[in-house]
Parts: sequence; structure tokens; C-alpha cells
Amino acid sequence: MRKMLTFGMILVTFIYFIPICYMNYGTLGLGLKLADASANYAGNEEKIAQTVNDLTEKSGEITIKTGDETRTLPLETYVAGVVAAEISPDFPEAALQAQAVAARTYAVYKQQMGRPAQHTDADVCDDPAHCTAYLDLAVEASAVWGEHAADYEDAIVRAVEATAGQVVVYEGAPIIAVFSAAATERTESAADVWGSEIPYLVSVESTGGEDCPRYHDTVTLTAEEFRKLAAESLPTADLSGTPDTWFSDEVRSDAGGVISVKLGGVEVRGTAVRSLAGLRSTNYTLTVDGDTLTFTTVGYGHGVGLSQWGARRMALEGADYKEILSHYYTGTTVTNLSDLAV
Ligand SMILES: [Zn+2]
Repeated sequence: MRKMLTFGMILVTFIYFIPICYMNYGTLGLGLKLADASANYAGNEEKIAQTVNDLTEKSGEITIKTGDETRTLPLETYVAGVVAAEISPDFPEAALQAQAVAARTYAVYKQQMGRPAQHTDADVCDDPAHCTAYLDLAVEASAVWGEHAADYEDAIVRAVEATAGQVVVYEGAPIIAVFSAAATERTESAADVWGSEIPYLVSVESTGGEDCPRYHDTVTLTAEEFRKLAAESLPTADLSGTPDTWFSDEVRSDAGGVISVKLGGVEVRGTAVRSLAGLRSTNYTLTVDGDTLTFTTVGYGHGVGLSQWGARRMALEGADYKEILSHYYTGTTVTNLSDLAV
């Protein structure tokens, strides 16, 4: 329990965003953002232990805030709604199962950390910019999937039922099971993307990312457009010269993403450039032609942890969900929630 809390304290300081890759899901959003201050959870060890007890005794329930409404659902119902919102339901069974376990693990992790200041009346919300996307299958499935609704819902429910109660653990504690749409040939490490060493979120080989639509993508901005964007988030950056002089001292990870770069003399993380320019990943190449900046990206999402398109490829090649999860979350195992030691 103490180890779990230690990792939690590190991890809740992260802010990250997982954009959706599956094209038909654009309106649903796909994301996961942890913006809770670690200080909120200081001294929460006893409460966390009690949360796990409660989860087990209640067969798993979670309180979710959707809009102004707060309701308590069986944990597995919530997991199905997250899977529905976060991954294409026509992915192979093992990929959906891996996503279900990752979503469940994240939900349990959030419960263990306590309710954040943003919604003290609920464990999670459905805002992909804060917690994670959620789709109410009973209400929204037909509108989203049309004629495929019944088949897709069946696939999701099967994946959730097949893995019910299972979570990914590292040294006995549920992990923060981050995932993104499409890693490149290697996943990124948490250290390179967010600056904190997490033993189970290290760079590993990945295949299948290239199957993701717009795996290669470009964003083109004029110098003036870039200046306006930078003025909002990086007001101290000096962008008075020509664009070819703005970027320097780039540091890249082994996976290819930009860890840090100087922009107008100010050192920023690659994630800041990604956010500023609206890029699909930090793995970008910049070309400057006169007054035009062109960012060419590879991959989609932050690239840490499970790659959804990588999971798809592994599943197509015969891997089961546990093999997928242990590949992307180094040194972890899958266990039953009811077996967690508290
Ligand atoms: Zn939230």
C-alpha cells in the first residue's frame, strides 16, 4: 500500500491528454487527464485502504458525474462505457479486453486517490479533458453506432465480462494505466514525456501504430499564427526574428519524441509544443519555408503505456490481453481486484 501511494503521489501531478485515433469517434472525445494536485492526497493511506475494501465489499461501484448529474454505477458498467468511448469496438477481442482492464485499473486508481477538487461529489467525471471519456451504452449506443450498435455493444460487454474485476498491478498495487492511440516503433517513457521515472511506464518496442489513420500528419502554420498561439502560453518566448531562428537545443527520446526544446530562448517540453501547435504527437519534424512552419508528426497521442493500435496488431497476431498488457506495462501482472492486499 505504501508503494502504491508513493507512485500515486508522483503520478497525480501529471497532466496529459490522449487524443482519439478512431475516426468515427471524434465527437466523443478520447482522453485522460490527471490534473489533481498531489497535495490533495497527502496522508490518504488509510482512506485508500478503505476504498479498496469498499470496492471489494460492494462488488465494485463507482460514482460518476456527467454534466450536472451524479450517479453511482456498478464498476463494470462504468468500464464498459469507458471502453465504448475510448477504442473502436471493431478491434479484435483481445485488444478490447486489454482496454477494459486498463480502463478498470485507471478507475480503481482514481478511487484510491480520492475525489478531486473538481468534483468532490464523484470519483470520476466524463470530461475527457479531466478524467476519461464515457459513453452511456443504454442511451447513446444507437445514436453513435447506428446499425452496428447491437454488435458493438455485444463486443464491448463480452470484453468487460471476460475480464471482470481484473486490474493491472505493479508490486501489488494498481497502476496508472495510461494509453494512447498509436505509438511509433517504440513507446515513450513517462520520464521522457512527463519528467517522472515510473518503472512500468518505460519505452518498449511497438508495432501496428502505422495502421492508425493519419499516422503521419502535418500541421502548417504561418509565423503570425504561431506567434499568436505562443503569446498565450509562452509570453516570455522571444519570437521577434524569422521562424528559422526560433527553435534550438532540441532533445529527443530514444522513441523519437521531442523531450525538450528551446523556443524563443525559453526551454519548453515537447508536450508544450504539441499542445501549442495542435500536433498529434511530440514526435515531430519541423521545416521552415520563409514565413511558414510545417510540423510533420508520427504517431498519435503521448505514446506512453498501451498503444491501442499496437494492441490491435498484437491481438491480430495471436496475443491474449494479458500478453498485451504485460508488454506495454513493464513488470506488471493482472490480478483480481478482490485479491488486492490492503
Ligand atoms: Zn474528472
